Amino acid sequence: MQGLMMNMPLLITEIMQHAERVNGQQEIVSVTRDNPRHRYTYREAFARARKLASAVAEWGLARGDRIGTLAWNDYRHLETYYGSACSGYVCHTINPRLFPEQLVYIINHAEDRYIFLDPDFLPLVEKLAPECPGVKGWVVLTDEANMPATELASAICYETLVAGGSEDFVWPVLDENDACALCYTSGTTGHPKGVLYSHRSTMLHAYATMMPDAMGLSASDVVLPIVPMFHVNAWGNPYSCPMAGSKMVFPGNKMGDGETLANLINEEGVTLSAGVPTVWLALLAHLKTSGKTVETLKRVVVGGAACPLSIAEGFDAYGVESRIGWGMTEMSPLGSINASADQKDRYSAEEYSRLRLKAGRPIFGVEMKIVDDEGNELPWDGKAYGSLKVRGSWICSAYFKREADGAHAEPGWFETGDVATIDPEGYMAITDRTKDVIKSGGEWISSIELENVAMSHPKVAEAAVIGHYHPKWSERPLLIVVRKGDGQDLTAEEMLAWFEGKVATWWKPDAVEFVAELPHGATGKIHKVSLREQFQDYSFPGL
Ligand code: AMP
Repeated sequence: MQGLMMNMPLLITEIMQHAERVNGQQEIVSVTRDNPRHRYTYREAFARARKLASAVAEWGLARGDRIGTLAWNDYRHLETYYGSACSGYVCHTINPRLFPEQLVYIINHAEDRYIFLDPDFLPLVEKLAPECPGVKGWVVLTDEANMPATELASAICYETLVAGGSEDFVWPVLDENDACALCYTSGTTGHPKGVLYSHRSTMLHAYATMMPDAMGLSASDVVLPIVPMFHVNAWGNPYSCPMAGSKMVFPGNKMGDGETLANLINEEGVTLSAGVPTVWLALLAHLKTSGKTVETLKRVVVGGAACPLSIAEGFDAYGVESRIGWGMTEMSPLGSINASADQKDRYSAEEYSRLRLKAGRPIFGVEMKIVDDEGNELPWDGKAYGSLKVRGSWICSAYFKREADGAHAEPGWFETGDVATIDPEGYMAITDRTKDVIKSGGEWISSIELENVAMSHPKVAEAAVIGHYHPKWSERPLLIVVRKGDGQDLTAEEMLAWFEGKVATWWKPDAVEFVAELPHGATGKIHKVSLREQFQDYSFPGL
């Protein structure tokens, strides 16, 4: 017998319409190149999204056609998200920090018909455009007064385009399984792979991220999404905030600037924010040097890469709860989150400082397992390491226009490429990327745990550990460190001694090398492939 409930398609169009009706007065604040503090309401945003959609309808695109964006987090990008996807096109967010060859590959592979770009990227686009013949027009996200001079024949001014549209545009009724967004993973080797989200998956993911033990959003929150809208849809914030009715504060191209972030938090009353560890390091460094505080900020979500204890404790000092989240582009992205702060009293200080750094518990809707090399499931005992596999309604079942690869080898599961432990309470801890794990004499050493220990040294600004060739053990850990400005006297002996008693003796790095900076990839993570290349001719001392 079937239930007797209405079968409404789960469309992100509904999020927009709900926000317009119910949270119409709520504010959206943005930093843009033409206005350091643009502000308007959800009602105005979505009226403009309709005007945009009606103007774009004149272009004669087909359902499912891709519209690319090369843009920062701001209100025009938000309008483009909804205006394109809710018209039945696919909003393809492109990471502008990728190499030009990767950008050309992505734009052509996705078959983008139009691309909306921030004026900051015009010089880049002028170079790429001849290699992207499928793109019919380039829409510059600004007004006529600020429109830069360009030789690009097919450049269109965004505000002029919107002005020509009609607010009376009626959104089409789409199938909930229709694609709404596309994002390519910035793979370290091979071509980037496209992850194609549906309206349904995006909606379900947004619901899930709002849960109290996830991001915990409410209408009284003021949310600052620092994580870029080109990196997995800013972890769902452009959908979950209008759903909850939270005020949104977009940092534009100032997302890595600690001073702008601190000012936005204090002036706009930000309560909640999300970003990768690098931006939190920038914010905490600014707070320290300026003496500022962040009184309104209640919680930050730290994800995208392992979070060192120094960030978690750095936020403690300002009364801000930090929650580590784990996920992937392929997972929309949220898979797990660590909300253990609420249960801190159950643990000793030492246990808690270990627990809080774990990637957290799976959120409802994401199923996880860890398996050994033969695919046998491993116990959730907090000790067994295995390859992490996931499944759920917002996890990709295949890559866009690509043959199935190893990641989908087991039917119904996605292999994340991460190595993890899961404890009896469901706390998952990432110990490595499969490719980064260090195998010493056949035993695994977690590079992330060693990095966490190194990062807790007061003179260390950033640290990475790679497995390096060793004639006896096949690989041993090599620690590479960037010293803090005032920690230039840190010696190799002092650094290595820091590991005593903190990790098993045989995990201790064999050597440490100091560098001025570490290579970072397009999403701000340490690029270990480059680091391994950089140190390929290195020999451990005494060998
Ligand atoms: P991306 O698809 O670019 O978001 O990258 C996803 C990958 O980032 C994951 O597979 C992990 O290797 C890494 N990652 C994300 N969150 C965390 C975390 N909290 N701790 C450790 N690694 C993480």
